[in-house]
Amino acid sequence: EIERALSEKVINENKIKIKENILVIDILAEHSTCYGLLTLNNNTNEIIAYLARITILASGGAGQLFSNTTNPDVATGDGIAMAYRGGAKVTDLEFIQFHPTALYHQGSPKFLISEAVRGEGAILKNIKGEPFMHSYHPLAELAPRDIVARAITDQMKKTKSDYVYLDATRIKEKFSQRFPTIYKNCLGLNIDPEKEYIPVAPAAHYTMGGIKTDTWGQTNLTNLYACGECTSTGVHGANRLASNSLLEGLVFGNRIARKIKKNKSLFSQKIDEEINISYNIPRENIRGFDPNQITKELQKLMWDKVGIIRNSSDLKKAQQKISEWKFILKSE
Ligand SMILES: Cc1cc2nc3c(=O)[nH]c(=O)nc-3n(C[C@H](O)[C@H](O)[C@H](O)COP(=O)(O)OP(=O)(O)OC[C@H]3O[C@@H](n4cnc5c(N)ncnc54)[C@H](O)[C@@H]3O)c2cc1C
Repeated sequence: EIERALSEKVINENKIKIKENILVIDILAEHSTCYGLLTLNNNTNEIIAYLARITILASGGAGQLFSNTTNPDVATGDGIAMAYRGGAKVTDLEFIQFHPTALYHQGSPKFLISEAVRGEGAILKNIKGEPFMHSYHPLAELAPRDIVARAITDQMKKTKSDYVYLDATRIKEKFSQRFPTIYKNCLGLNIDPEKEYIPVAPAAHYTMGGIKTDTWGQTNLTNLYACGECTSTGVHGANRLASNSLLEGLVFGNRIARKIKKNKSLFSQKIDEEINISYNIPRENIRGFDPNQITKELQKLMWDKVGIIRNSSDLKKAQQKISEWKFILKSE
């Protein structure tokens, strides 16, 4: 509904130019000031720099760093990376929120079985059919996300399984009426939540850290602002409560607009808006490096070694592997 309402407003606002199929590659920043963006037109392969008095990054999270994620394909952390390369401060990137109960089904997208299902009385069971949450936390199924995600991971390890079950057959109200979308999605995969257990597993869900901003969306670079999941504003701490992220995006987007509107002198200066420039981007495979293959390897490495339960030896192995890739790519 937020997307629908915003899109409608933007499309009908003739002062806003919409550019589609444009991939932002980098911010243009020098001496702690941002001057706009460098982009790649995916249709024409043209590199175009957009100069701007104010640049606002709203590029979303980085869930696609992990092989198991609820996030869409576009959640690749680009905005965070380009802000960092341009000298913006980033913070708390180690805090990834893992949702405990994404549907587990080989080859299907990891859609969410929301907390509300557990709120209505559904129980987590391991693959032997044993309930386990009471031995991890007094709130059992209703414990915070990180605790439930870790408990599930522990049970998966102990039972050598890739998933646990969510038993929703016991909830009083009819599942199909209380959760029609989840019901429809499950039925599409031949799982009937009213009659059988739902296989679930944790998945990377929300990037808690990101580009550091103040409470008005301002980064440490002059004229660079950021809002939404690509930021770390501090309002969620290390572990966001469910449903607060859309609200954060709306509040901070609005605050940025209010703040830059006040800076009237900025808008009296004239600037060139678009310039074509020559820029060398390696688009072919580099010495046997297949980007799709390396993306999959990186996602698996992150899931296995930088995932829900971490230790220093695995973190070091991951760091070493990533440094090797970086070295090869840089030396080309
Ligand atoms: C399954 C699921 C359920 C959720 N449910 C809730 C909920 O109930 N309540 C809640 O508050 N939050 C929820 N969240 C979290 C919330 O949806 C996200 O945090 C929020 O949508 C992020 O909004 P955003 O505008 O910051 O980023 P996004 O909505 O991810 O938008 C980022 C945009 O930037 C574009 N982009 C990225 N990189 C580039 C690039 N290099 N060049 C050009 N464009 C780029 C992307 O294509 C995308 O259009 C949920 C998340 C998921 C995955």
